[in-house]
Amino acid sequence: MLHAMDRWKTIIEPFRIKSVEPIRLTSVEERQAALEAAGYNLFNLHSVDVLIDLLTDSGTGAMSAEQWAGIQRGDESYAGSPSWFRFLESVQNLFPFKHVIPAHQGRAAEKILFGVVAGPGKSVPSNTHFDTTRANVEFTGAEAVDLVIEEGRHPSVIHPFKGNMDTDALDAFIRERGRESIPLVMVTITNNSGGGQPVSLENLRAVRAVCDRYGLPLFLDACRFAENAWFIKQREPGYADVAIPDIVREMAALADGMTMSAKKDGIANIGGWLAMNDDVWAEAARNLEILTEGFPTYGGLAGRDLEAIAQGLREVVNEDYLHYRIRSTAYLGEALVESGIPCVQPIGGHAVYIDAAALLPHIPALEYPGQSLAVALYREGGIRGVEIGTVMFGLHPDGTETAASMELVRLAIPRRVYTQSHIDYVIEVVRWVAERAADLRGYRIVAQPPQLRHFTARFEPLA
Ligand SMILES: *Cc1c(COP(=O)(O)O)cnc(C)c1O
Repeated sequence: MLHAMDRWKTIIEPFRIKSVEPIRLTSVEERQAALEAAGYNLFNLHSVDVLIDLLTDSGTGAMSAEQWAGIQRGDESYAGSPSWFRFLESVQNLFPFKHVIPAHQGRAAEKILFGVVAGPGKSVPSNTHFDTTRANVEFTGAEAVDLVIEEGRHPSVIHPFKGNMDTDALDAFIRERGRESIPLVMVTITNNSGGGQPVSLENLRAVRAVCDRYGLPLFLDACRFAENAWFIKQREPGYADVAIPDIVREMAALADGMTMSAKKDGIANIGGWLAMNDDVWAEAARNLEILTEGFPTYGGLAGRDLEAIAQGLREVVNEDYLHYRIRSTAYLGEALVESGIPCVQPIGGHAVYIDAAALLPHIPALEYPGQSLAVALYREGGIRGVEIGTVMFGLHPDGTETAASMELVRLAIPRRVYTQSHIDYVIEVVRWVAERAADLRGYRIVAQPPQLRHFTARFEPLA
């Protein structure tokens, strides 16, 4: 279905700006010095040294006037605050699960969930686990398995729902491992680590059918549920005239629970939740929650944060917002593709993923082509993206290292923060670096922790 603004080429941000944050403009020399101090890890940079920060769309969105009004309204009572009930109502309006357990962010919800259901000998299949999800599954001693469809493993293959799960592989996996060793099946919407690709309702129904065959619960990692719903409306037959909140409720109705980072499609700067229908699991989860997050009516959040999320959830399903959001991400991706820069296609919802393996074929996976490209984009233009490849996924719990299945650099777009001219600048810088890709060199890691190494590892350029 065409949106009213589709007749114009220019993307109008559907908001005006009434508060600005200056960006400090830096030179290549300043950025090279910053890189050396940061051990060539972009997570170690001071953000004031970044011009366009596309590290993540997580918690980096701009809040609306109504969200700031909610911040003022926040009631900081320890238990049973009206802000909690407004949060609960807003969550359950879209996701009518019986139990909603707030958390300070998505990984806290994951830590609690897998603390309750996972453990040694267990396996948790997903389309593709996000890095914190995988780490939280593995931290309990369980195994995290990715079963995305074959198309989802190839950056340049076009498919409308590349985030879909391979249901035959799921069925075979459950039979092989035995249903007792699988506490639940997870589906990530949209599939962040797989390129921000959506999952269709048809696929969710097929996953549900497999789960029903074995009596297994299905949980959504729903961080980008609204973007996923928008793609369903655009691409899935029969949904063009269905309202976004109804599509969201249809996705929720197929699941038994969810984890959520409100830093994504909550358009808040912090927050998350765990939700489910199962009473026994919910009781165990609330007990863990009290241990680590706080009382179950605030869960590590201030009342004002609960208000910002409650309002953010109302705004994120607005069709003018979603139209702008998805179109402005595609604008960046399509411009890069037109310049011959290999990207994951079609362009996902929240980010553009450059295929560093294809752009830098001269750098082997264990010399981190994605890291090399990410560092170059920062050095040349002050743009901060993130490697999603062997640095992020190559180190295993037993200490061995293998190449990741893809070597990507993700340019994630914060919600409602940058304008079209910022994005035009990004396009110009990426083109400049891509034209000189053959000059880029690999890296080696000189220090790293045993898990989630990409956050703190230090690198050295190879000669
Ligand atoms: C961000 C994210 C998480 C973790 O949420 P945090 O709020 O960063 O802890 C989990 N899954 C997916 C798909 C995500 O994008």
